[in-house]
Amino acid sequence: MDYYILTLFPEMVIQGLNASIIGRAKEKGILNIEAVNIRDYTKDRHQKVDDYPYGGGAGMVIQAQPVYDAFLAVKERIGFPPRTIYVTPQGKTFTQEMAKEFAKEDVLVFLCGHYEGVDERALEETVTDYVSIGDYVLTGGELPAMVMIDAISRMVPDVLTNEASGMFESFEGNLLEYPQYSRPYEWNGKTVPEALLSGDHQKIANWRREQSILRTKKRRPDLLAQADLTIREKAVYQVYEIGKKD
Ligand code: SAM
Repeated sequence: MDYYILTLFPEMVIQGLNASIIGRAKEKGILNIEAVNIRDYTKDRHQKVDDYPYGGGAGMVIQAQPVYDAFLAVKERIGFPPRTIYVTPQGKTFTQEMAKEFAKEDVLVFLCGHYEGVDERALEETVTDYVSIGDYVLTGGELPAMVMIDAISRMVPDVLTNEASGMFESFEGNLLEYPQYSRPYEWNGKTVPEALLSGDHQKIANWRREQSILRTKKRRPDLLAQADLTIREKAVYQVYEIGKKD
């Protein structure tokens, strides 16, 4: 997977994505992450990349020209028009399902806005997906791009090793993950649930499934309403479709 991040703060994204699992995947050559400095493409003799918004109002807008030229440079290098994500609070909210879907691409381009955003005309010419990380406004798109790249990369084959398996995790089948325990058996007067010590795989799987459902019911009832549950599970855990009681 090759990522290109169009940004005014390349050092921020590169540093942020250099550590731990993502950093190791980069070293192994499974991921390639390149930050493209939008400022390098400005034709302004003072290296300016932003200007006042037409119509007035607060803040500055990143101009179309440097964004478009930075995008064209990436497009020329890879030889085809890439899937290009503008990270924006106005986009569709990023989910685990979207992370899996984006992970199927060979190349992804992220465009990070700043100030009041990017001139709409450059967005119209480049962007295929508008994606948000949540209903709040950040100062720039660098953190959202890093969040998405982290989540997408975990879904790219061979990025996760056994120590961090993505086999069953929160949001699989719209359930949260069960509670996890490690050694020692007793800590702070609390012991590990007996089912996990039984060595009986079926018993462990049943316990985990039950905990997943109970936890989702308590913390994210909105998710549970869409979870893949059997008819028996729906009855036992009293899960009803929204608006229905039977
Ligand atoms: N004026 C814009 C608006 O009201 O929609 C917000 C601009 S914000 C201050 C600057 C940049 O940060 C945006 O262009 C976007 O790239 C990024 N950004 C801010 N919040 C975000 C979020 N929740 N998800 C994704 N990107 C975000």
